[in-house]
Amino acid sequence: MNIKILSRNGNLYSTARLVEAAKKRKHNVEVIDPLKCDLIIEKKKPSVYYKGRYLSETDAIIPRIGASITYYGTAVVRQFEMMGCFTTTESQALVRSRDKLRSLQILSRARLGLPKTVFTNYSRDVAEIIDHVGGAPLIIKLLEGTQGLGVVLAETKNAAESVIEAFNGLQARVIVQEFIKEAKGADIRAFIIDGQVVGAMKRQGKEGEFRSNLHRGGTAEVITLSDEEENAAIKAAKAMGLGVAGVDMLQSARGPLILEVNSSPGLEGIEKATGKDIAKNVIRYIERGI
Ligand code: ADP
Ligand code: GLU
Repeated sequence: MNIKILSRNGNLYSTARLVEAAKKRKHNVEVIDPLKCDLIIEKKKPSVYYKGRYLSETDAIIPRIGASITYYGTAVVRQFEMMGCFTTTESQALVRSRDKLRSLQILSRARLGLPKTVFTNYSRDVAEIIDHVGGAPLIIKLLEGTQGLGVVLAETKNAAESVIEAFNGLQARVIVQEFIKEAKGADIRAFIIDGQVVGAMKRQGKEGEFRSNLHRGGTAEVITLSDEEENAAIKAAKAMGLGVAGVDMLQSARGPLILEVNSSPGLEGIEKATGKDIAKNVIRYIERGI
C-alpha cells in the first residue's frame, strides 16, 4: 500500500516510528509536509500537488497535524478524503478536537465524567464563576495552552479572582475548572486505536507539582485500566469521531473524568512506558480499513 504521513518533520519520534512500522509491514511510505502541498480543486478530479508531482497513488494517510497548522493541515486531510484515501484521523474529527469548548460539550453530551468547567466571555462577575465550580482551590486554564503551560492552580478565592481578572485584562480566554485533589498530581493517558485501548500509562507530576505533563518533569509508568476507565476512554474517542486518540483522564472519587482527547497523540511516552509497538497498531488499523 502507498501510505503518506502528513508531518512537518520526519525526525520526530512519532513520525519516524510510523515510517519504520510501515516499512516493516512492506508498505511504501513517505513523509509529506502538509504546508508544502497545493490542493487542486476541480469538478471531477481533486488532487494534491507536492514538490512537482501529483500524489495520486495514495491509499492511506496518517495525519500528524500540530495545533499551529490546524487550518491548512485539515484542508490537506480533507483533500485526500475527497480523493478516496483512508485516513487514520478524519478532518472533521481533527477540527472538533482542536476546539476545547466544543470538545467538552460533545463529551458532556455523551454523558462522560468531566471536571465541572465554566467557559466565560470575559465575564466581570468573577465571584459567580468561582462559585459555579465550587469555590477555591480551582484550576484556571488558558484556552490556547499546551504541555501544561497556561494551567494555574489558584489555592484561594482571592488568588483565583486576581488571576481570572488578569487574564481577562489581557483578553486571554480561559476556562475555570473544579480542582480534582484526589488525582494527586497524576493523570492517565489511554491510547485508543479503532475503538480499543492499545496502551495506557499513568503520569505523575514531580514532587509538589499538580501538573503531570512529561514536559513539566512528570514521569510515566504503565497501568492497567479499570473497566470504568477503559469504557470512558473508548466512549470519549468515539464521541469525538477519532480512530486514533490519546484520552487524558483524572482519577477522582466519582470515577474517571476526561480532561482532553488528543487527535495527534505522541508515541514516545506511551511506547516507552508500555514497551508496546503502538506504531504497528496504527499501520494495522490502516490495513483493516482498506
Ligand atoms: P495541557 O493540555 O496544557 O496539558 P491539561 O488540561 O492537560 O493541560 O492540564 C495539565 C495537567 O494539569 C494535567 O495533566 C493534570 O495533571 C493537571 N490538571 C489539569 N486539570 C486539572 C484539574 N481540573 N484538577 C486537577 N489537576 C488537573
Ligand atoms: N507529545 C506530547 C504528549 O504525548 C503532546 C502530544 C499529546 O499530548 O499527545 O504528551
